[in-house]
Amino acid sequence: MTFLDRSRDPEAHKHWYGDMEASYLYSTGIAGERFFTTLRDKGKIMGATCPQCRKTILPPRMYCEICFSEMGDWADVGKVGKVDTFSIAQVGIGGEPLEEPVVYGLIRFPKVDGGLVHIIDAKPEKVKIGMRVNAKLRPKKERTGSILDIECFKPI
Ligand SMILES: [Zn+2]
Repeated sequence: MTFLDRSRDPEAHKHWYGDMEASYLYSTGIAGERFFTTLRDKGKIMGATCPQCRKTILPPRMYCEICFSEMGDWADVGKVGKVDTFSIAQVGIGGEPLEEPVVYGLIRFPKVDGGLVHIIDAKPEKVKIGMRVNAKLRPKKERTGSILDIECFKPI
């Protein structure tokens, strides 16, 4: 077999099985740092607004993903959004069965591009696409500057 021959059988090539450790740190960057510290210190969910195309993007970024302009003002997007889509988790991140299913949803905010993926505090059968939800923040003294400073989104 040459490089130009195609194979659909991964077992036909030299291979071995094993485990590969992959540990990493994810940097939030300048915009992410500002987003999380504002969430922690002021309890506000902020997006960034492009001075050229006037779109507000969440999570905020340093540069507009539409026109590549440097983002200008930041805007408080509020705490009320709508469920754009959702999924129901039956197992935890370790693969263990959960006692109660957890609903994760993509929450979009009015006049904002993007959104946040977060826990929706509701029974799975009660969650609907388009339902309005409100961010429930942790008490200020418990906030750490993470997305979990938003405890969950609760149906309105
Ligand atoms: Zn733009």
